[in-house]
Amino acid sequence: MDFSQQILTLAEQAEVALAPHFARIEQIAFNNTQKIMDAFREHRVGMTMFDSTSGYGYDDRGRDTLDAIWADVMDAEAAFVRHQIVNGTQALTIGLFGLLRPGDVMLSVAGKPYDTLEDVIGITGKVGDGSLADFGVKYDQVELTESGEFDYDGIADKLQTYGDSVKVVFVQRSKGYLNRKTLSCAQIGELVSFVKQRCHAFVVVDNCYGEFTEEKEPTAYGADMIIGSLIKNPGGGMAETGGYIAGTARAVELASYRLTSPGVGCEVGATMGQNKSLYKGLFYAPHTVAQALKTAHLAAYVFEALGFAVEPRWDEQRYDIIQTVITGSPEGLCALCRGIQAGSPVDAYVTPEPWAMPGYNDPVIMAAGAFVQGSSIELSADGPLRPPYTAYFQGGLTYESGKIGILSAAQSMLKEGKA
Ligand SMILES: *Cc1c(COP(=O)(O)O)cnc(C)c1O
Repeated sequence: MDFSQQILTLAEQAEVALAPHFARIEQIAFNNTQKIMDAFREHRVGMTMFDSTSGYGYDDRGRDTLDAIWADVMDAEAAFVRHQIVNGTQALTIGLFGLLRPGDVMLSVAGKPYDTLEDVIGITGKVGDGSLADFGVKYDQVELTESGEFDYDGIADKLQTYGDSVKVVFVQRSKGYLNRKTLSCAQIGELVSFVKQRCHAFVVVDNCYGEFTEEKEPTAYGADMIIGSLIKNPGGGMAETGGYIAGTARAVELASYRLTSPGVGCEVGATMGQNKSLYKGLFYAPHTVAQALKTAHLAAYVFEALGFAVEPRWDEQRYDIIQTVITGSPEGLCALCRGIQAGSPVDAYVTPEPWAMPGYNDPVIMAAGAFVQGSSIELSADGPLRPPYTAYFQGGLTYESGKIGILSAAQSMLKEGKA
């Protein structure tokens, strides 16, 4: 791959400007790595914990120890991490169904949750598929304010209206695919105090894309439950699949009864040789997240220099790994995604095309050349073909390869005449 002198000079300028931000990111990665290694030592991690179990998976020491380590690292009382959880949506489903009962209210306080949760909650109005709504769980939401803060007056009103029926107050930490700011753990901590002064609801955080971008997780700030996917941040690019839930002992216990069965909980679940990749994933996660954060900062700098609106800006602190670029045209969006694809380690030879994806009203173009299918801790980009043609991208297993992907995307846009 040949980069033009213009692109290489831009990258050099970017790295000079970004040096203090990179230093801060590396400090966070160092502190998180130290916390993880302390937990590994305290829990006496040894080779035998990578042994495989089959069948029921009773007394799988590797699994049980990793659960305990995960709880420590997340400053939680308990946790479970399982390769059996197929994605983030299933982990969230386990958590929500674990806590909510007929007649309860789920109150989302950061606006609409992630798209895939609409069917889980029953927001779409579809009846009979076994959504929370089918089981008599009521749902309501409070939007964030225009500046992206919690609307405390709005939340107080709803808590007053529903009283003790509110069982879950739900927060999505990352912007996901919404046009809003990502919430910091400090902001979530304030919300937790506010809620706890008014009711006994569990505060549940969709933690996807947020893990290890800060030195502490929302559980350290009092959240009752955090939930995420292992093919994003906390799998470190090593986990082949899986999800996790961490939180208070009772909340995690209730979720564990939904993971398997009431009375059985976390005591079973054969690990079938997956323990090692989950340990290794957690070990790598702070470092890998730092690589993705540095790649995102670089992208923000490069695309802003080329004249595009980006969010966050290159010099802003980040609380997730997502970077958006408003490309302004369908050709620009396609050129960006094709550049990312060409700069990927796997499937670099294919050309992504927009297609009509189920659940979306506009064609979507996606670029991903990952070792693990759909992994978005690996460099990936996508966007719906509708104005203002925003590209969302995230990931980068190594800063070096992430940089190649970003420069490839920038060069592809220059070639198309879209920058
Ligand atoms: C990725 C993600 C999810 C879960 O998505 P899966 O594709 O099922 O893993 C949920 N919420 C947010 C904010 C996400 O980014």
